[in-house]
Amino acid sequence: MAKYFITTPIYYVNARPHVGHMYTAVAADVMARHYRNQGSEVLLSTGVDENSQKNVEAAEKAGIPIQKYVDQMAQVWKESFDGIQITYDTFIRTTSKEHETAVHAMVDAMQARGDIYLGDYQGYYCVGCEEFIAEKDLSEGKCTIHKTEPKVIQEKNYFFKLTKYRDALLAWYKNSPDAVRPESARNKMLSYITDEMQDISISRQAGKWGIRFPQDDSHAVYVWFDALINYLTVTGYPSQGYEKMWPADLHLIGKDIIKFHCAIWPAMLMSAELPLPNTIFAHGFFTINGEKISKSLGDAIDPRDLLKDYPLDAIRYYLLREIPFGNDGDFSVVRLKERFNSELANGIGNLVSRTLTLVEKNCPNIAFVKGQSLDVSSHIEHLAFDKALTDIWHEIARLDGVIDEKKPWELAKAGKSDELETVLQSVLAGIANISHELEALLPETAESIQGLLSASPIKKPAEPLFARKD
Ligand SMILES: [Zn+2]
Repeated sequence: MAKYFITTPIYYVNARPHVGHMYTAVAADVMARHYRNQGSEVLLSTGVDENSQKNVEAAEKAGIPIQKYVDQMAQVWKESFDGIQITYDTFIRTTSKEHETAVHAMVDAMQARGDIYLGDYQGYYCVGCEEFIAEKDLSEGKCTIHKTEPKVIQEKNYFFKLTKYRDALLAWYKNSPDAVRPESARNKMLSYITDEMQDISISRQAGKWGIRFPQDDSHAVYVWFDALINYLTVTGYPSQGYEKMWPADLHLIGKDIIKFHCAIWPAMLMSAELPLPNTIFAHGFFTINGEKISKSLGDAIDPRDLLKDYPLDAIRYYLLREIPFGNDGDFSVVRLKERFNSELANGIGNLVSRTLTLVEKNCPNIAFVKGQSLDVSSHIEHLAFDKALTDIWHEIARLDGVIDEKKPWELAKAGKSDELETVLQSVLAGIANISHELEALLPETAESIQGLLSASPIKKPAEPLFARKD
């Protein structure tokens, strides 16, 4: 049996989920549903990154103990993904015992290769970014994202010999053209690995929060280093059997975290002598109604608010159709409504409604064979969700054209019942095909249509699939 292991990034728990997080999760969910429908054993993993120093500060601000804070916030994230029906198989929390075990095993394996050493670190650290920042990347002494002055940190840290893997990383890029996608991310990383990559510090002395460094509990494992290992934790690593799911088939990430995923993570795996992921895909960013979103500046759209106004599939449709996956784009509430009315209410909703009305009126016990003319699997497998939906909507337009041309109501009036049935059979076959192709993309819509088509006798929908919005 084939397997398919897909991951989303894990999210800092110190903010609420916004529509940008939903975008990645929906894309991952489409892939997971698609491969499940194909009969693969699927592992879709998502979860939260809890070991950040930012959480300690957020908990202090909220006046609650840190463990209680992360417990509450992990629940918020889990409920949010449940609320948008993301069919994850595991929801990882990096404060879990299993994760600590995996991190320790990984550090031990890297240490055994001679890839970890104790060194002196001095640098600028932005708590907001949870990352060291080179002096050249500061603007007037401040982080360009957070507009705050970074801390100056000077301490002994454990380092990972990342530079030892420069040639091996470049060879991997050369031999696996699909490993890092899209092309823009791949090119950026090739230049980073060739020109900029240095050994990285992977521990911190400050603070009591976080996973202890093996054999030296005066250090915590650097939060980014621990976070990446979550992808192994969920396979059961280091216990026997993790090889069943590892390596990941697809890591979906945002383009802001490519350095960690496309250079540091594969080098860590090489060091620990583990297989590398098949594909790491970095999607683009939204603006919202033309404005920039950012995780800490707080002008994001909460998926719960959108769901008050639109059914889930309408939001899935918009997210997947509007912006080619991998590109940057704009999330516009005006465009959402336009697409909702023209493509969902008038497009698929109207086709199903007019067809089933004709069937109910003229031949409710009609038999038909599901059509085969459309197959969008290959677009989905290439993460070209916009193309998959475009093809499906072309088919919707074609079927509408058949009805307009053949005018079944006139055939009925003229008593040409054989011809009438043939026309409706072919349209029903096409709609059945469409509903099948929509199973991974718009699962509720696919299910509704299939329910209507399998009824005997067939009846027109009691209410529209998508009710027009004024
Ligand atoms: Zn920052």
